[in-house]
Amino acid sequence: MFPSKSMSASNSLIPAGITMPNDHDAPLAAAILSVGDELTLGQTLDTNARWIARELTSLGVRVVEHVTVADDRAEQSSSIARLAARTQILVVTGGLGPTADDLTRFALTDVLRDRLIEDAPALATLEAWYAGRGRPMPEPNRVQALRPASAIMLDNPHGTAPGLLASIGPCRVVCLPGPPREMQPMFAQVVPTLIPHASTIATRVLSTFGLGESRIAELLGDLMDRSRNPLVGTTASGGLVSIRLRGMGLSPAALDHTEALVREILGPIVFARDATLAQHVTTRLLERNETLATVESCTGGLVGAAITENAGASQVFVGGLLTYSNALKIALAGVEPEVLDRDGAVSEACAVAMARGGRQRLATTHALAVTGIAGPDGGRDDKPVGTVWIALDSVDAPTLARRFRFPGDRASVRLWSVVSALGMLRLRLDNVQTPMLFEQPAAT
Ligand code: ATP
Repeated sequence: MFPSKSMSASNSLIPAGITMPNDHDAPLAAAILSVGDELTLGQTLDTNARWIARELTSLGVRVVEHVTVADDRAEQSSSIARLAARTQILVVTGGLGPTADDLTRFALTDVLRDRLIEDAPALATLEAWYAGRGRPMPEPNRVQALRPASAIMLDNPHGTAPGLLASIGPCRVVCLPGPPREMQPMFAQVVPTLIPHASTIATRVLSTFGLGESRIAELLGDLMDRSRNPLVGTTASGGLVSIRLRGMGLSPAALDHTEALVREILGPIVFARDATLAQHVTTRLLERNETLATVESCTGGLVGAAITENAGASQVFVGGLLTYSNALKIALAGVEPEVLDRDGAVSEACAVAMARGGRQRLATTHALAVTGIAGPDGGRDDKPVGTVWIALDSVDAPTLARRFRFPGDRASVRLWSVVSALGMLRLRLDNVQTPMLFEQPAAT
């Protein structure tokens, strides 16, 4: 840790050299600069930029640019200078390590036209870090105690590389280490300094399933006006559309009011606040003290995987049958061979038999079955690629089967199959009816 000339959540630690923007009527503009050869060469996926952009956006900041540069001092300096000239916040990640290719502190110093000084408390903390692990500090690590004279250091509770906070004109530049588990808590720590009004921003996310994003936007109409407070926005991801509410300086009651308006307009397609479908059905099954089994063909276990991502799954999910071949549909799920001969594996009769067989054999309250043609091969005129049957059998309700025709490639068909299976279960557990995207009329 670097408690020295470092900062906590208070702006009072900002020294005289660090300027603070004082006008927050207009949204602050930010840029994200990701540094590292492993990023430019495609060896590491730049998840930091996505994470930081989401955080900044949820805090009302307008992220205007993402840039990725190699471990090259001149490239880094010119990017820092250019981005600092057009934004009030610049977040740089990576390049703060002890090796020769870690050049962020040097590039920043170049842009500041400053000199590097050794931060004595930071050095002491570094030495203590190594002493705590029973070894002397390697000499190369000493560089991590260097900072531009006008910058301050940021604590890194999870690693050796402290961050840096500097000011280039009205832009605050924060440099954070690359590893996400080090970077994320440090970013959270610096937020009150970067965005002084952050604490007055309240956000809420409503999760929906059943309508596409453009239809939802159409229905929400004026509620999505960009000048509104709270602001209402939509994001489509993984088959769900999230409705984001972001209020600046508002009471919880004001957010409640807008949430109620959104729910009134969208009705039962809103299934939860800030939850995936898998989380929601897990919660609902727990509340109802019910259990689930899966019988999967074209999804190869992905429905079960989605459920088991959530803590608490073991109390509701007993497991699944992975019946990819016809032989296993018969042997494990008890599908009659005649059904497969007559209707084929991708059929209503087969999906229903899989769900019923799975529920009975695994002795659960509900069973979901998925059988379809994910492609790219295997399609026919009457059953084109993307045709998927999903069935839901429950102890106390008739077996339900729906036919879908999902768009896109194999991955897309499998993804839509998973969310649609969970969506069908959600409708039953919540006892509501909504449209289902890509559903086909049952008759062929
Ligand atoms: P360290 O002291 O750990 O070396 P650093 O600031 O020098 O910190 P880098 O060497 O640039 O960080 O990156 C270290 C590791 O952090 C990378 O190998 C990679 O696993 C991860 N990382 C770096 N940048 C990103 C990024 N933009 N997105 C996701 N992971 C990243």
